[in-house]
Amino acid sequence: MTITKEAIDNRLAQLLRGDKKLLHSGNDNAKLAKNSVESYILNLSPFTQNSKGTNLCPGSTPGCQTGCLSTAGHGRMPSVVQTRLLNTEVFIHHRKFFLNRLLDELRALNIQAILENTQYAIRLNGTSDLEWVRLIQTMTGENILDFSNLIYYDYTKIENWVHKYFGTKYHLTFSRSETNWDQCKKLLDSGLNVAVVFHPYIPYQYGGYPVISGEENDMRFTDPKGVVVGLLAKGKAKQDKRGFVVEHKDWGSSIEGWKAGPEERIKRATQTLLP
Ligand code: SF4
Repeated sequence: MTITKEAIDNRLAQLLRGDKKLLHSGNDNAKLAKNSVESYILNLSPFTQNSKGTNLCPGSTPGCQTGCLSTAGHGRMPSVVQTRLLNTEVFIHHRKFFLNRLLDELRALNIQAILENTQYAIRLNGTSDLEWVRLIQTMTGENILDFSNLIYYDYTKIENWVHKYFGTKYHLTFSRSETNWDQCKKLLDSGLNVAVVFHPYIPYQYGGYPVISGEENDMRFTDPKGVVVGLLAKGKAKQDKRGFVVEHKDWGSSIEGWKAGPEERIKRATQTLLP
């Protein structure tokens, strides 16, 4: 999809007038809609999908690029693809404006959350992997982690950021790819969490570590520590052949099978064995 300069300028004007926003309510997202905390997400076009070839996912791999969540659910709809591309082009060509606009939206959400005496969850890397806290601070001098009623969380493939933000209001879950299992083990052994994508079932343990389902909601900041967060492959990830997705076909040793209880597991196993 080609984005013209005129389309980028139009988007810029819409954002300037406040007709459009960068952050979307989590209610429009199948996973975030399950969060019990009101949530907002920023979705851009991942890795080098922009006119300048700027990499928005510096830790990405061929496997995750092909199976990226950007190809799942609403992400396939042409209107959604176009909106993400337009916002990405604004980021690429008008970075200062973009970062100030994002800061304004976060500030407004924080005020709203204060007025409602609640907290909102913010996921800035819905389909990118950038260090927004630093980018915004460098450009504007403001630290978005100072907003009292906002909690931030993301998945990332940049190990340094997991350590850097540990213990702050920005909760990062490291993401396994087909190339970084050694890093994953190191993080798990030190009590941090790692997200792993499985298909078609999420096992109740993986690599010797307990697995929790990351499908019940997207509130990664509430997860217990030192666990694998199991996610189900979506979109093109279901066809992954590069090892980004871990195949787990045995329902009996899946979280779902475990929850169903021994009788149901025996029943299913018997059915499988019958001629
Ligand atoms: S899976 Fe994450 S890191 Fe990989 S391309 Fe998609 S958004 Fe980027």
